[in-house]
Amino acid sequence: MIDQLRKLIGSDKVTDHPTTLESVAIDESALTPVTPRALVWAETAADIETVVKFAYEEEIPLTARGAGSALEGSTIPLAEGIVLDFSRMKRVLEFWPEDLQVRVEPGVVYDQLNEFLKRESLFFPPAPGGSSDVATIGGMVSTNASGIYSVKYGCTKDYVLQLEVVDGTGRLHRFGNRAVKRSSGYNLIDLVVGSEGTLALITAVTLRLQGIPEGNRRIAFKFKSETDAAAAVSEMMRYGLDLAAVEYLDRDVIAALNLLNDYGLEETASLFLEIHGPAPVLDANQQVVAEIVTDQGGEPLTLTSGQNPWEIRHHVTDAIKLRRPGYSIIRNDVAFPISKLPEMVEYCRLLARESGLLVHTFGHVGIGLLHALTLARRQNKVEWQLGGEINRKIIARAVALGGTISGEHGIGLGHKEMFQREQEQSLELMRSIKQVLDPRGILNPGKIIDPA
Ligand SMILES: Cc1cc2nc3c(=O)[nH]c(=O)nc-3n(C[C@H](O)[C@H](O)[C@H](O)COP(=O)(O)OP(=O)(O)OC[C@H]3O[C@@H](n4cnc5c(N)ncnc54)[C@H](O)[C@@H]3O)c2cc1C
Repeated sequence: MIDQLRKLIGSDKVTDHPTTLESVAIDESALTPVTPRALVWAETAADIETVVKFAYEEEIPLTARGAGSALEGSTIPLAEGIVLDFSRMKRVLEFWPEDLQVRVEPGVVYDQLNEFLKRESLFFPPAPGGSSDVATIGGMVSTNASGIYSVKYGCTKDYVLQLEVVDGTGRLHRFGNRAVKRSSGYNLIDLVVGSEGTLALITAVTLRLQGIPEGNRRIAFKFKSETDAAAAVSEMMRYGLDLAAVEYLDRDVIAALNLLNDYGLEETASLFLEIHGPAPVLDANQQVVAEIVTDQGGEPLTLTSGQNPWEIRHHVTDAIKLRRPGYSIIRNDVAFPISKLPEMVEYCRLLARESGLLVHTFGHVGIGLLHALTLARRQNKVEWQLGGEINRKIIARAVALGGTISGEHGIGLGHKEMFQREQEQSLELMRSIKQVLDPRGILNPGKIIDPA
């Protein structure tokens, strides 16, 4: 297989070196790594077409890889498979600043794209919090990534105008066009967005952009309880306030951050907010926010001079990871209607109290997204099972409240079982769609749904 691949696309793009293969055996999840048979660095769309045609003929599984920062195992390959790495495809192909649009290869890294766009005062908003310095556009499209600014600007799916993709037989397709508004035909773009490399491989993406706002203001608040903070958020969103970012951190998250970096933050439930616009808009919004916060018993939280709330927020996952040596994270990324936020955070705290385990809650709560990260020791069977049980209960509650298993990280392997239950009614249709685009089931097999 290695020799054939080298003949087809060039020897410098293919390896079976054991150490290199090990480096692509896992993503950022805590699942079991799987070392593939080969790694291919695609450099052009033609490389991808060639490799997929070969894999189709030989029935070899293919797993796409951007930066491998996914959190639910969607980037873990199969032992007999090939990893198709997109990190060399990082060119900006076309730029239309006057239309606020850009066409890029899938391996472009989020922060690097925004660095490029800055010169025209433009940006691509859905910054994936702690991974914006590594996450690729292909990975973001494939997981429909969202970020701190998704409250105001939406998620990745809201920015994809065109997709160039190779299906599971090696055929290239172009979906969409550069019109921002359209009402023509089936929305094939949305089918691929969030499909975690199971339906097609993305070779180019045309994105809509936003202008960098005229002004911005960052404010922080502290609350006596998590429920008060959550109630304030529900109220702000109900009020229709024009907020760019609404990030929630519970007292355990703040404690973990203090331990990591000695931030000196008061260890209580907190909100970090950002507002965008000209000065009068900032003032007006800030005033209403302050009134709502006061009504919920909250107070302004003054960060030490020079402390950037988003720099602090960036370290949340690492802080939790390092809080207790020997413990591992059991995570989720549930989403639900915004009015249910107080009930959800209260439920997470109840489960923490009852179990005695540390459950950290935080997230882009303005869009009804919450992460609950439970710390447990793998080698302590009872504790590990309890952690898993807590996780399942939180997810089940979110679904019962009209929400979903994953609002952000995707299904991959980690959430597959629960997803099959959540989407029972649609599984057959999903399998039929997969069959059309990937008739031999070679694209990231075993992720999201299993074959019938
Ligand atoms: C500390 C930390 C914080 C994070 N914060 C956020 C956050 O705030 N918001 C958020 O949404 N996510 C977050 N994530 C998760 C992750 O960073 C995002 O899902 C990101 O979009 C993945 O990008 P990637 O390039 O690493 O993709 P990968 O992990 O390489 O791939 C993700 C999925 O996309 C598929 N894929 C990749 N490239 C292609 C392609 N060209 N064509 C087809 N399929 C492809 C892969 O097969 C896989 O299924 C975080 C992760 C970490 C580690």
